[in-house]
Amino acid sequence: MDNTTTQSNLNLREQLQLELDHRDSFAMKRQLRTIHGSGRIVQHQNQSLINLASNDYLALANHPHLKEAAINATLKYGTGSGASKIVTGHLDIHQQVESKFAAFKHAQSALLFPTGYAANFAVLTSLAAPGDLICLDKLSHNSLIDAANASNATVRTFPHLQTDKLHKLLSRHMGISSSPEPKMPPIAQQTAYKPLQRPSRRFIVADAIFSMDGDAANLNELIAIAEQYDATLIVDEAHGTGILGRNGSGLCEAQNLSGQIDIVISTASKALGSLGGIVTADRVITDTILNLGKTIIYTTSVPPAQAATIGAAIDIIQSEPKRRQDLQQMCLHFRTKLLKMGWQLPLLRSDLEITPIFPLILGSPQAALDAAQSLQNAGFLAFASRYPAVPRGTDRVRISLRADLTPEDIDRLLLAIKTLTPAQ
Ligand code: PMP
Repeated sequence: MDNTTTQSNLNLREQLQLELDHRDSFAMKRQLRTIHGSGRIVQHQNQSLINLASNDYLALANHPHLKEAAINATLKYGTGSGASKIVTGHLDIHQQVESKFAAFKHAQSALLFPTGYAANFAVLTSLAAPGDLICLDKLSHNSLIDAANASNATVRTFPHLQTDKLHKLLSRHMGISSSPEPKMPPIAQQTAYKPLQRPSRRFIVADAIFSMDGDAANLNELIAIAEQYDATLIVDEAHGTGILGRNGSGLCEAQNLSGQIDIVISTASKALGSLGGIVTADRVITDTILNLGKTIIYTTSVPPAQAATIGAAIDIIQSEPKRRQDLQQMCLHFRTKLLKMGWQLPLLRSDLEITPIFPLILGSPQAALDAAQSLQNAGFLAFASRYPAVPRGTDRVRISLRADLTPEDIDRLLLAIKTLTPAQ
C-alpha cells in the first residue's frame, strides 16, 4: 500500500500527526524548548548552561548601552512604529540608523527591514523576474534560496565556493540567452502604468560567511566574475557584520572590498544583539526595493527600540574593537585545538576571516542530537543542526562562541568535546 492510500481515510489532523511522527522517527522533528535568560549562562531544564547556541557573538544583547538606547527610544517614541515604512512608520530614529549603517558599510544608502529574512526576500523579488538568472552558492542561507525561487527568475546553484563552476554556469547561460534586447518605450507614450520592458539580468548571490560552516566567500573572485558577465553581486553579511574587518563592518572590509559589492545585506540579529535586516547599496537600488519589496511595503516598520539598539550596537562595535579582537583570538585558539582533536573544519584562508561558528560534523541526525545532549550533560547548550537545514550526512552540532566566554569555559568545553566522535 502506498503512502497516499494509507492516508486517504485520515482527516487533516491525523495526516499531520502521522507526518510529524514520521519526521520524529528519523530524528528530524523540531521541538520548541524554553530557555530562561539570554546571556553567557542560560537556564534550561533546570540546568545552568553555558550558551553556545545563540548568534549573539559579541554578547551585545545584554550590553548596558544597547539596553539604555532601547529604553530611551521607547520613552521618546513609544513601543511601536505604528505603520509601514512607506506610510508613517519611517521615523527620524529609523532615518538616523539607516544613515549610520550606510556610513558603517561605506554605502550610499541603507534600508532597514524587520528581519534579515525579509530583507533578502525583498532584494531578490524586487530586482529579479522571469527571464533573469540567479546563480547561488549551494550553501547560501535558506532565506536567499526562498527569495530567489519567489522571484520566478531562473535559479541555478553552483557547488559551495567553487567559482570555476560559477564561471561555467554563467558562460553557458550567456551562450543561450540571445534574445533581442527589448525596446524601452518612452515613458510619456504610456497612458496607464505598466512596468517598462527591460533587458534580462544576471545575479550572483552568496553568503559572505556561511551560517552553518562559518567559512568565507572569496569576494574578490565573485566581483571579478560579476564584472566579466555583467552580473549584479549580492552578498549576505549576516554573520560577518560586527566581527570581521578592522572596524567590524564585515567580511567585505576584511577582504579590503568595502563599498565594492553591488548589494550587501546585513542583519542585526547576530553580532549586533538585536533584530533587523539592512540592505546597503546605491540609492537607486534601495529606492527600487522600497518601491517593489513586499516585505517592506506590506509590513510595519521596526519598533523604535529596535532601531535604537542597532545604532547603539554600531557605536559599541566602533568604540570597543577589543571585544571582537579578543573573540577572534579565542576562536583561533579553539580552532587549533579542534583540529588537533581530529575534527574536520572548513578551510580558513586567513586568520582575519576566523568566525565564531564551529560545525562539529556528526554525520546523522541522531548522532547530532546525542552529541548535543552529551554537551548539555556537561553544562553546555549547543544546537543540533540537522537535514534539511544542512546537507544530508552533514548533521552537526553548531557551536557559536561568544565574546563573554572565559578561558575556563573554553577549556571545559574542549574536554566535553573530547568525548564526542567526529563523523568518518
Ligand atoms: N542570512 C543568514 C546568512 C542567516 O544566517 C540568517 C539567520 N539565520 C538570515 C539571513 C536571516 O536573518 P534574520 O534572523 O535577521 O531574519
